[in-house]
Amino acid sequence: MDAIVQQHSGWIEVVCGSMFSGKTEELIRRVRRAQIARQKIALFKPAIDTRYSESEIVSHDAQKLPSRVVKDANEIISLSLEAQVVAIDEAQFYKKNLVKVCKTLANMGKRVIIAGLDTDYRGEPFHPIPELLAIAEYITKTHAICVVCGNPANFTQRKTKSSNQVVIGTSDIYEARCRNCYELPLDPAKKGRQKEKKKK
Ligand code: ZN
Repeated sequence: MDAIVQQHSGWIEVVCGSMFSGKTEELIRRVRRAQIARQKIALFKPAIDTRYSESEIVSHDAQKLPSRVVKDANEIISLSLEAQVVAIDEAQFYKKNLVKVCKTLANMGKRVIIAGLDTDYRGEPFHPIPELLAIAEYITKTHAICVVCGNPANFTQRKTKSSNQVVIGTSDIYEARCRNCYELPLDPAKKGRQKEKKKK
């Protein structure tokens, strides 16, 4: 998206993929280039993601940029009035109002860069990323490498048995898998029924 020069118009870019696919690295790369161009930048991340740092966006490969922790996406607008570029990491942890916030920012003439997980540990769409993909001008899908076979990986395999959609962790809890190697976790609500079926 770096080559694009749009005058007097904002737009939305989404970088999405599984865990360990380099989303945050790509977000940081884009922000660094905007810094070189001396653009005013505002960076945000949700309060829920404090795996590496409370005040910085940090990628798995330890690159970092200072960021603000914001609980509710609505706060982002008033904190971005001066910014030409607004970057939001781990966007899947925000509620659906993030979609309206991104629209508003882009309509104000800002470049909005979103990074986030597009699917959860069950391989299901992780809202509000699908809604953001629909309204974005530009989409980049990043891929990890399957730890089992080395193929490009699009799935996030959870290594623990929790069935909450949000469980914060890194390589201690998750690994990247391709479609062939990914194993769908058992749905705990259906476990009883699945066992009953086996008995018959
Ligand atoms: Zn594989």
